[in-house]
Amino acid sequence: MAAAPSSADSAPLPAYAVEIKGLTKIYRGGKNMPPKEALKDINLNIPRGSIFGLLGPNGAGKSTLINILASLVIKTSGEARIWGYEVADEPRLARSAIGVVPQELNLDAFFTPFELLELQAGLYGVPKRERITAELLAAVDLTDKAKAYARTLSGGMRRRLMVAKAMVHKPPVLVLDEPTAGVDVELRKSLWSYVRQLNANGTTVLLTTHYLEEAQELCDRIAIINHGALVANDTKQNLLRRIDNKRVTITIDQDLTEVPVNMRAHGWELTGPRQLTLAYQPSKITIGQMLMAVQVNGFAIADLSTEETDLEDIFLQLTRKAATAA
Ligand code: ADP
Ligand code: MG
Repeated sequence: MAAAPSSADSAPLPAYAVEIKGLTKIYRGGKNMPPKEALKDINLNIPRGSIFGLLGPNGAGKSTLINILASLVIKTSGEARIWGYEVADEPRLARSAIGVVPQELNLDAFFTPFELLELQAGLYGVPKRERITAELLAAVDLTDKAKAYARTLSGGMRRRLMVAKAMVHKPPVLVLDEPTAGVDVELRKSLWSYVRQLNANGTTVLLTTHYLEEAQELCDRIAIINHGALVANDTKQNLLRRIDNKRVTITIDQDLTEVPVNMRAHGWELTGPRQLTLAYQPSKITIGQMLMAVQVNGFAIADLSTEETDLEDIFLQLTRKAATAA
């Protein structure tokens, strides 16, 4: 793929592909609509070369943030830089450094994929000989649809075409707003492999999603936004480490009135006459080690179950509080 960041000019590459400082957005509201503070003092840096996931429930402010980066929404205050260029101060440079795949699939139905990519390249002032239309169509697996009307394309094909459209000017930063909404599993996989490929070639990727599994699989860093405020921003590993706990419950073959000393030392608690529960950190101790402590007491285990926590749990933890407060 040729769509790597163009660094022909001598300026050093920025450490952060996107830098957001004190970013606030208040939608003014209208006749029957009160003003809405969609973003509240957001500070967020997106390292160059990363695949960064922005997660949050519906209405959290994800699209607002992305649309500010794309110059589609005007910020109320704060700074937003793409590739070092502030969106309000250097709009042309900022815009040339970013490609955006919006949440809505707004393709002109009466153009073909080939025409749409050529038009978009024209809009960005890409000279004819520097265009990569055929290459882009191949990359998103639409070569055989190059001359078909866009209205005959499936949802998944349209989405992929939108990704190609965002890449015509080879921006160093690609932003995808809920890219897999309405995309079936197979196409989702091919979309991800294309995104991974772009990233491997140097493109920084920012995507929003509410499929946590996807973020868990694809992103190196994850930020969580809720009611316009940033509630987490960390590497995926750190986020997952924060939720490094599991719970195991066993049923044994005899009634107990208290937890044997050796098991109490591990943290086992009595949750029924024959039932014991332990919260533990999988990174520190294995189930085998814990069950050893049970067996030395001569108990037979009649039943065992474990509960796992994952990104979904931390997401709920972080977003539930504010949801009930709102
Ligand atoms: P998300 O993409 O996370 O679902 P949005 O950024 O679309 O969230 O919306 C954030 C909040 O701002 C929501 O409460 C939404 O209703 C409101 N909002 C979005 N766009 C507008 C607009 N053009 N005018 C007024 N309010 C808006
Ligand atoms: Mg949105």
